[in-house]
Amino acid sequence: MLNEQGSGSDCSSKAVELCGYISTRRDINKKLSFTILRASNQSFCIQLVSNSQKEGEQAEAHERLRSLKEWTPVRVRGTLKSREAAKAETHDGIKLDTRNEIVVEHVESLNQISEDVIIKQDTVFGPEQRHLQLRTSTQLRNNLLFRAQKVLEARLHLNEQNWTEIETPILFKSTPEGAREFLVPTRQKGLAYALPQSPQQYKQILMASGLTKYFQFARCFRDEDLRADRQPEFTQLDMEMAFAGEEDVMAQTERLLQVIWNKNNDKSEPFLRMTYQDAMSSYGSDKPDLRYDAKVSIMGLSCNIHTYHWQIHNITQHLPADLIGKISPLQDPIVDAFKIPMSGDPKATRKFVASFLDSPDGKVYLDNPHGQPGIFIGDQSQPMQGLGPLGYPYVMEGPSSLAVEHGDLLVIQARPNAPLSGGSTTLGNLRLALYKAAIAQDLIDAPSPDDYQFLWITDFPLFTPNNDSDPGQGGSSGFSSTHHPFTAPKTPADVDLLLTDPSRAIAAHYDIVVNGVELGGGSRRIHNAAVQEFIFRDVLKMKPERIEDFRHLLNVLASGCPPHAGIALGWDRLIAVMRGSESVRDVIAFPKSGRGEDGLVKSPNRVTEEQLDTYHLRLKE
Ligand code: ASP
Repeated sequence: MLNEQGSGSDCSSKAVELCGYISTRRDINKKLSFTILRASNQSFCIQLVSNSQKEGEQAEAHERLRSLKEWTPVRVRGTLKSREAAKAETHDGIKLDTRNEIVVEHVESLNQISEDVIIKQDTVFGPEQRHLQLRTSTQLRNNLLFRAQKVLEARLHLNEQNWTEIETPILFKSTPEGAREFLVPTRQKGLAYALPQSPQQYKQILMASGLTKYFQFARCFRDEDLRADRQPEFTQLDMEMAFAGEEDVMAQTERLLQVIWNKNNDKSEPFLRMTYQDAMSSYGSDKPDLRYDAKVSIMGLSCNIHTYHWQIHNITQHLPADLIGKISPLQDPIVDAFKIPMSGDPKATRKFVASFLDSPDGKVYLDNPHGQPGIFIGDQSQPMQGLGPLGYPYVMEGPSSLAVEHGDLLVIQARPNAPLSGGSTTLGNLRLALYKAAIAQDLIDAPSPDDYQFLWITDFPLFTPNNDSDPGQGGSSGFSSTHHPFTAPKTPADVDLLLTDPSRAIAAHYDIVVNGVELGGGSRRIHNAAVQEFIFRDVLKMKPERIEDFRHLLNVLASGCPPHAGIALGWDRLIAVMRGSESVRDVIAFPKSGRGEDGLVKSPNRVTEEQLDTYHLRLKE
């Protein structure tokens, strides 16, 4: 059989047999046709020559080929011959064997395509035809092949580093770890399993079981609101190390990511680190995209120092009080500002910002209850470069990195004078949206596709005020664990704060971010049962029965569990970033829709009366 990779070289006549799909056909006349055959794995295609002037089987094969619909799966036998070099190198985006063709002797159709299935080059398939989306999109199939390759590379590397792959149960129990769970009712009246939101508790139990370096490509299930490109089930590369802390896990993760990104050489620098507070105040985001900034490297004797220029700055102290009163209804607000170096043409910048703020993406920023953003455009023809309204003290003493050149954009925004919390600020979101819009309109250069800016975010607050979208631990404290309730306070001083002001305690929690995307996160864990129980009961103020749901973990910790720490990398997201895909759906074979549905198999489906009976359940009226 012909090499599936495409023969590539000239060959003199040779008998071949090949399976694949029929593609387009060109009938030269009644007697002669050229049909393109896609090899079974579509790694290449080749021209089939069929001729009715030949005798017997060959003439039959010619007629059969002319009767087959595009995309019919076939087995072809014939003679591989050199051809006149084809002009095109590819056919429908697939590599074409330009130097050989098959003179067909026999064609066998392996199946039929029903009448209602129409596959044309420009057909857009819905999610109910995911198989055809995949079959006809080289890019989607390549995403899956790439994903498999990266799984392999990660496994090989972790194996070399003495990590052990261990499976943990999918049928777990309901515990208030933080996310909303999926329940799995059982035939035992009133009893249910829960699908794991992550293997967190089992991996910690493994650390108390004498295993030291665990990993797993783990399927996780969270019944979340599906905004922001999330899936109800997703894959994590989940890891945990015993007798280890933050630095060990961070170092191992960096090596792993460098291997996966094929950047594992001696020159690789350690990833940058930034505290949560710095990230929020300088980028308005807990996952800053450092590509949208000017990195200035100063080569030092022993290290390179990087400084970043286009961050958000607090300019409150430089502004006149009456101006602040005009831009915000807030009492004593903080005013932040950022600049985007732009076109060199104030008119073009003005037009860009006006059209952005007019668009649906921009309008939300005008409805901000803390006041609208103030827009300034560097303009040499204006007094004080167009920044006059900000006042003389600002122009003289404001941050030098916010100095505007002709055509640059400066945006200011007020916010409440309170500690920053959550994942982003309004100004951070606006900054990112403006960068993206300016790139889309070619006003600033797009980052290069192989520019990956890795960054650790550390020093998150241990607790976050409750919000509507996350159930948290359901305690009555008014806050929940930022990461999960097993994360350790960072320092002894943070342990002390648990008694006095838990809202100020910092966590031994780290997130790994690349290009504005959170790839994953982890933490050093609480390995002392008394501290863990104290957090459940006295800090989070969970109900006793919910604390009992964690009794297994408390008992395990109390059995001499060693210190341990770990991380989980969102594998779908990681592959999407590497492939430059906007959505994780492009790197998952059978993703769910924004409503949590699989359009092909049509899940979820209705529960029948019989099933309800089996599980002793009844639907509420
Ligand atoms: N279980 C955590 C998560 O799913 C990751 C970790 O802390 O290792 O985010």
